[in-house]
Amino acid sequence: FLTGKTAVVTGSTSGIGLGIAHRLAKAGADVVLNSFTDTDKDHALADELAQQHGVKVRYIKADMSKGDECRALIEQAGQCDILVNNAGVQHVAPIPDFPVQKWDAIIAINLSSAFHTTAAALPMMRKAGWGRIVNIASAHGLTASPFKSAYVAAKHGVVGFTKVTALETAKEQITCNAICPGYVLTPLVEEQIPDTMKEYDMSREDVINNVMLERQPSKEFATVEEIGDTAVFLCSDAAAQLTGTTISVDGGWTAM
Ligand code: NAD
Repeated sequence: FLTGKTAVVTGSTSGIGLGIAHRLAKAGADVVLNSFTDTDKDHALADELAQQHGVKVRYIKADMSKGDECRALIEQAGQCDILVNNAGVQHVAPIPDFPVQKWDAIIAINLSSAFHTTAAALPMMRKAGWGRIVNIASAHGLTASPFKSAYVAAKHGVVGFTKVTALETAKEQITCNAICPGYVLTPLVEEQIPDTMKEYDMSREDVINNVMLERQPSKEFATVEEIGDTAVFLCSDAAAQLTGTTISVDGGWTAM
């Protein structure tokens, strides 16, 4: 049902972004994949997605830590009916030791990039008379954990920015919502398991259940396909009046 629409998904060469790109392409949308690299692998990924779903897929390099590159991504896409602000990074440290560069990078990539891409995409959506903005926040957009100051501040900021975007577009056929995932087993999370096993002298199973999924009552990871299908739902007619809100996909985390 998304045939003829173009979706731009930031930070989409792995994990949740790639999962969303797959589901939007499966629903018929043409897709723009993005990351900050420009390798043969990035372009091959776009070709693979196009072949698999029979849609047009382009890879456009843009560093989401830089405002002008965020805006250039949307301009280069040429059309942006669906904008998924997904690029995000993490750093864990107590506040007095938190490296200033890491703070600035996390605020830029996880929060400010959404401002820049939205600012560039809204005129296109208004011209087309339709638009969907899906911001990938986090359970950490609604709750906090120690040592994740920049991430939690940025994700709460994303939830606030989502509400303002929804109000500014409320009378148009444009919606803006945030998906708040709990733990999703992406390559990034997978990479943390061996180190945590060593650090706590725990088995893989104990790290997953007692460290990672401690706060996730379902004791299961959410999947990138589930996040992708939630994004597709937000693009459907059923969600036309759903705007300015959050959808948690967190196995009950934020119900606690
Ligand atoms: P990931 O590391 O697998 O993917 C992140 C993507 O962003 C990659 O494609 C990476 O290349 C890209 N990226 C990083 N820095 C970039 C930059 N400067 N410019 C452009 N692209 C950049 O991570 P993920 O787990 O899939 O996370 C995706 C989003 O979901 C993030 O916003 C993250 O905060 C959020 N999230 C993840 C989880 C989880 O458990 N994995 C939970 C809640 C929210």
